[in-house]
Parts: sequence; structure tokens; C-alpha cells
Amino acid sequence: MSRFFSKKYTALQPYIPGEQPKDMRYIKLNTNESPFPPPKSVVKAVREQSLKCNLYSDPTCGALVEKAAQIYGVKKTQILPTNGSDEILNFAFMAFCDKDTPAVFADITYGFYSVFADLHGVPYRTIPLKDDFSIDYRDYCGVNATVFIANPNAPTGLALSKPEIEEIIRSNPNNVVVIDEAYVDFGGESCVDLIEKYDNLLVTQTFSKSRSLAGARLGFGFANEQLLADLNAIKYSTNPYNVNRMTMEAGREALCQQAYFDKKCKEICNTRAFTADRLTRLGFTVLNSKTNFLFIKSRKIGGKELYEKLKEKGVLVRHFNGERISEFNRVTIGTKKQMEAFLFCVEQILKEKENEKSK
Ligand code: PMP
Repeated sequence: MSRFFSKKYTALQPYIPGEQPKDMRYIKLNTNESPFPPPKSVVKAVREQSLKCNLYSDPTCGALVEKAAQIYGVKKTQILPTNGSDEILNFAFMAFCDKDTPAVFADITYGFYSVFADLHGVPYRTIPLKDDFSIDYRDYCGVNATVFIANPNAPTGLALSKPEIEEIIRSNPNNVVVIDEAYVDFGGESCVDLIEKYDNLLVTQTFSKSRSLAGARLGFGFANEQLLADLNAIKYSTNPYNVNRMTMEAGREALCQQAYFDKKCKEICNTRAFTADRLTRLGFTVLNSKTNFLFIKSRKIGGKELYEKLKEKGVLVRHFNGERISEFNRVTIGTKKQMEAFLFCVEQILKEKENEKSK
């Protein structure tokens, strides 16, 4: 830290992204990306736009918003595209939280919520998940704070039902409720259609998981016109060209290829079921995931040790140090072949562990 760094940031603990080591080729199951490349037409659209890189992108994201409105069944005025969904979440903390309006979120959820809160000096309260890691929606009713809920949640993969989410929105009429639907396409129920009904709802989604565009950085906020105006005020006060022209076209073309992504999501859900079944038979606890990852725990080996041993064998998964989750690993669902390789390594590691014990 330099002596020039503003005092207001000195205690900041930045978000730690999943590792991207370059020392060898890994099977990468640690950052919940899609294992599938985007369709060729998306790559072509990116190439074409790159030829016009001398020109700024359209700050209104007009063509992208038009296509998105059609696909999501909302008005063009109800969509705000952003640089990944992290950016819309950041905007939400800036727009809808302050000293008098704290934030509320689960004790085990997406790690960026507390980072954004700290970044903007927003006080926050965390609500413990139940012992089975599920969320009790009643804990979020009438909380008098801005609510952030990842649905399905990460890293647990568990989802709340739409009526439960709706009850949370209804019971907080004087506060914004942010529903982060980063993983909704893998089995969750979207609340995008509720933005017409509730003026306090912001739904966020990303193209990083189900639409194979993590590296392009594209997210969306969906809300009524008034909330969107607030979020736009933040956008135009930070970076009007927040979505670059390659990404904008990649996103628009991706929305034209819905059948491709539906097929890939289905494939991931099938591979998730296959992997969960095999892990259960190996004695793992596997939470009921509605996402493109599994949250798993073994009785035979600790979470950190399994993570390290898998890494030695060339498989990267995510391990968190948090008190209640340190015995777990979060494993992204890759291709069937990748998951077979992962399971093979897990079996080997468990066998080695048995042999160690019997020595
Ligand atoms: N929300 C949740 C729950 C996530 O896990 C992630 C991915 N790290 C994000 C939002 C942000 O994703 P992105 O910025 O790539 O859209």
C-alpha cells in the first residue's frame, strides 16, 4: 500500500477471484464458467466489431437491449446491460444503500456483496443460512434494509421458490430487493417477470455461466423505469461506455442463438446429475444444486486436502476457508469427459487415503 492510498480504503479486503494458474494445464472446475465455446456466429460478430474498435460503443446498447427485451419479455426501458453482473451489483450498492439504508444478505453467499458494501461504506448485516445451508425466506421479510439474495445461492447451489422470493419482495415495500440470478438457467425460477408488479425489485443476470461469455463480461439488470433511471445515473457518472462494442455484439448474437444455449444448459444439468450420483455413491454429501456447480463434502477427506490433492493431479476446484464451509469444495460442472476425469482423480485420492490409514 502506498502512502497516498485514501484512508477510507485502507481496511478494504478485496474480492479474491478463483485462481488461474499457468504452471500446467488444468481441468478448470473452479470458476463456474461454461466448458463450451460460444457459437461460431458469436465469434464472427466479435471479429466484425473489432474492425470498428476506433469508435466508441453505443452507450445505450440499443441493438442489444432491443434483442434482450424480445427474449426476456420486458420493455426496452427495463433493461440495463453492464460489464458483467458484478457491475450492476456494484451499481446497486451505490444507488440503493447508504449509512441509513444498510444491506442484508446471507452469511454464506457470493463473496462480492460484503466487498461492495465495504467499498462504499455501507453497513450490513448477515443472516445465517439454516443448518442444511438453505435460506429461510422469512428471515428476509420486513428487514428494513436493501436485500441481496443470490437465487440460486452460491456456493451452496440451493434455490428458493418464486413464491418465497415474491413474499420477500412484498414484505419490503420500502426497500429495494436485489435478486441475483447468475445461475438461474440451470434449474432456478426467474423473477424477471415480477418487475412489472413490484417497483422495489431489481433482478440481475449474467452471460458468464449459461451463455459461454465469461471473458466478454456481460450482465443485465432488470427493473422498472424508476429504478433503472437511478442505476443509469450511476452508470453515466462512472463509465457511459461500460459495455464494449465486441461484447455488445457477442451478447446480441448470443441472444439469437437461444436453442444452442438451451441445449448446453440441459447437457450441464444431465452431467450434474451424473456427477452428483457418482459422488453420493463415493460417500460424499452433495447439496441439491440448481446451478452449474456442486457443493460437496466427504467424510473421508477434508475440504482443503481434497482441493490440494486434486490440484496436484491437475484438477482445479474451489475451496473456501469460511468457518461453516471449510470441509466443502465447490466443483463446476464441466463436460462429461472432464467430470469423468475429475471422478477418476477423486476415487484415486480416496484410495490413497485408505492405504495411508491401513499402513
Ligand atoms: N453473482 C454470483 C452469485 C456469482 O457467482 C457471480 C460470478 N462470480 C456473479 C454474480 C458475477 O458474475 P459476472 O460478473 O461474471 O457476471
